[in-house]
Amino acid sequence: MSTTPASALVILNQPSRHAPGSLDDVAPMRFVDPDAFHVGVRDLGITRGDGIFETIGAVSGTPQALEAHLRRFARSAAALDLPEPDLDAWRAAIAAVTDALAGHSEAAIKTIYTRGIEGDGRPTGWVHGFASSDFTAARQVGLRVVTLDRGYRHDIASTSPWLLQGAKTLSYAVNSAALREAQRRGADDVIFVSSDGVVLEGPTSTVLLFREGQLVTPGPGLAILDGTTQNCLFAFAAQRGIPTALELTTIEHLHSASAVWLVSSVRHAAPVTAVDGIPRAAESELTAQFNRYLAERDA
Ligand code: PLP
Repeated sequence: MSTTPASALVILNQPSRHAPGSLDDVAPMRFVDPDAFHVGVRDLGITRGDGIFETIGAVSGTPQALEAHLRRFARSAAALDLPEPDLDAWRAAIAAVTDALAGHSEAAIKTIYTRGIEGDGRPTGWVHGFASSDFTAARQVGLRVVTLDRGYRHDIASTSPWLLQGAKTLSYAVNSAALREAQRRGADDVIFVSSDGVVLEGPTSTVLLFREGQLVTPGPGLAILDGTTQNCLFAFAAQRGIPTALELTTIEHLHSASAVWLVSSVRHAAPVTAVDGIPRAAESELTAQFNRYLAERDA
């Protein structure tokens, strides 16, 4: 009986058709040892965080919301003026890695695309997949969050697009620092707030609220990531006749809403049980429905 590996890694030999150098006679991708070293020390993805990524959930060998992730990947590439990714090549690499991990009930598949070795002009791309952590506690017990000032106004999408806030870039050191700050404050996660008091997103998640009979997410025009999970849950709500809205949201709304969740591709829907040390009610029936729907998506 063959065993499923804990992780799998594919390097794309031609992540874009718009980069210099003809690679027509080169195989499109290669499987390599995920525990060996593969990326050059002068790769701008490493030295500058100059690149983009996606994290895609896979359930029993099926990547979820794949086309939504690929569309966002292409939008992030365009925001960074990276050569347009060859989405067919990325689709094939994602399928190869997902297939290799099909024996895991849940896996995370990361697509990484960088500007490549400095001065070379050719981007670097790889797909790395691994068995997911166990998120049962986050999904069922929930998360205590703190609100942290991101230090940007809510309208920077229109005033300062070079901040790349709506793109999924490799520059996540700030997001990781915010999560460590949450731990120092005795919490599990973070909700970022703009310098002018508007609720934005988590460091790795989208905020959802149930308030006044509507499923609400912060927006529009807030320079936050267009969440694939939030979009799926809005589709679920539409099927159930639950109204949905993008609205400017305040910290007060986080306290007064009937329910608040952090949602993302691999952890799915995690109810928020405290905001800045103040407990708040969680909605366990809707949370269970959300997570069942997210787990059962087959595309
Ligand atoms: N916002 C940020 C900053 C994220 O990093 C993520 C996911 O990692 C999300 C939102 C949620 O996006 P998705 O639902 O597509 O995973």
